[in-house]
Amino acid sequence: MNLIFLGAPGAGKGTQAEKVCEKLSIPAVSTGNMIREALKNGTEMGLKAKSYMDAGQLVPDDVVIGIIKDRLAQPDCKNGFVLDGFPRTIPQAEALDAMGIVIDKVIDIEVRDDTIIQRMSGRRVCGSCGASYHVLYKKPAKEETCDKCGAPLTRRKDDDPEIVADRLRVYHEQTEPLKDYYAKTGKLRIVEGQEEVADTTALTFQALETGKAGN
Ligand code: AMP
Repeated sequence: MNLIFLGAPGAGKGTQAEKVCEKLSIPAVSTGNMIREALKNGTEMGLKAKSYMDAGQLVPDDVVIGIIKDRLAQPDCKNGFVLDGFPRTIPQAEALDAMGIVIDKVIDIEVRDDTIIQRMSGRRVCGSCGASYHVLYKKPAKEETCDKCGAPLTRRKDDDPEIVADRLRVYHEQTEPLKDYYAKTGKLRIVEGQEEVADTTALTFQALETGKAGN
């Protein structure tokens, strides 16, 4: 199954994407994680992306489209994948169509902006493997330590409240129009993000099973 997870930054799409990937044994393809990895490795692309990312802006379309094209050509994507954080603009969605990629469903996780701002302040990520946590909603077993690889957890620079406000503005202007784009294809499913991750996950799986658009 080829899936897209849409949603504002901090709506929990990454967490839901992970759950679906575990269940379906398909890879999660997160452009944000790939860019952060490139930055960590000091690649040219990573350095180019840094200024945009730090400012809460989108990295230029041609850069992310190139990353996705290479990633989806890898053998582990042959049996399906979950796109987390891509596409984020109409030109990116059009580029995906032009690659001949057929998307089965688009899950949009909806959460109010004020809730997102509150949530982002508690978000933590593993500086080593990129796994994400929350001080209230998704606590690691050992405080400030990654369950998966044991590295220390940190706060993403772009999770600072001022940057979060910019990222939400960018989301509403450039990414939200994708809801209409995919609603027209009949593949969009809306999931109302719940306070408990498990409740959102139950709704996500329900949405994956529904045949009708708009549920
Ligand atoms: P994320 O981890 O998905 O919230 O992404 C973090 C940052 O990476 C974003 O704020 C953008 O600067 C950049 N980024 C990730 N995915 C994309 C994309 N599809 N298009 C443009 N920029 C992206």
